[in-house]
Amino acid sequence: MAEPVYRRVVIKLSGEYLAGSQVAGIDQPTVDRIATDLIAAQELGAEVAVVVGGGNMVRGVEVSAQGVSRTTGDTMGMLATVMNCLALEAAIERKGAPAQTLSAFVMPEICELFTRAAAQKYLAAGRIVLLGGGTGNPYFTTDTTAVLRAAEIEAQAVLKATNVDGVYSADPKKDPSAKRFDRLTHAQAIEGGYKVMDATAFALARETSLPIIVFSIADPGSIGAILQGRGRGTVVAG
Ligand code: UDP
Repeated sequence: MAEPVYRRVVIKLSGEYLAGSQVAGIDQPTVDRIATDLIAAQELGAEVAVVVGGGNMVRGVEVSAQGVSRTTGDTMGMLATVMNCLALEAAIERKGAPAQTLSAFVMPEICELFTRAAAQKYLAAGRIVLLGGGTGNPYFTTDTTAVLRAAEIEAQAVLKATNVDGVYSADPKKDPSAKRFDRLTHAQAIEGGYKVMDATAFALARETSLPIIVFSIADPGSIGAILQGRGRGTVVAG
């Protein structure tokens, strides 16, 4: 079995993906399938932390359009990410692997607070660490959270799981002439304005020299393949 190319990674998983074919909410078979993939990836010998989004339940911008303040809407979104972490944690543990949710917010009855030391301790002990609550601040996204946490815990890469196999010049599902990139610099990703990740996340990755690998999670085993350096994805680096 090939050694992982990256010793420690942060995987960014969108909340929307957890809804499966539903419009919103949590699709248990999808969560179970992702749990299997995460366990397999970790069994390759990598330390795996996961930043989970909340778009399957609440997005601050959408809630605030209905009259709630943006800050409250974003707080609701951040809490949704914690719920997704708990769903994933339960699914991983049901399969017999240890997992640990850490939140950006103090919520001692529910899970531990994220600190760099706690995350590194649990990763070293072989747990899959689920990072909830985003950055803990409104006006940010979980894409930016993934890069921030990766820098904090000294991960070697951010693996951005999507529905497509990399970064395209336009949405390949709508525009058949969209061009796929094998590799981009952080600057090119920012200048291109590609929708796959927000510019704040790319800018922080550039600042911290963190590579981001954009790949499709639709194929079972794709996380492990990327970890072993044989998967298909766009590498954003340099
Ligand atoms: N959010 C936030 N600060 C953060 C991360 C997330 O306020 O640091 C809120 C924001 O409202 C966002 C929601 O949480 O819309 C869910 O996160 P995101 O949209 O990144 O989830 P995804 O699209 O990946 O499911």
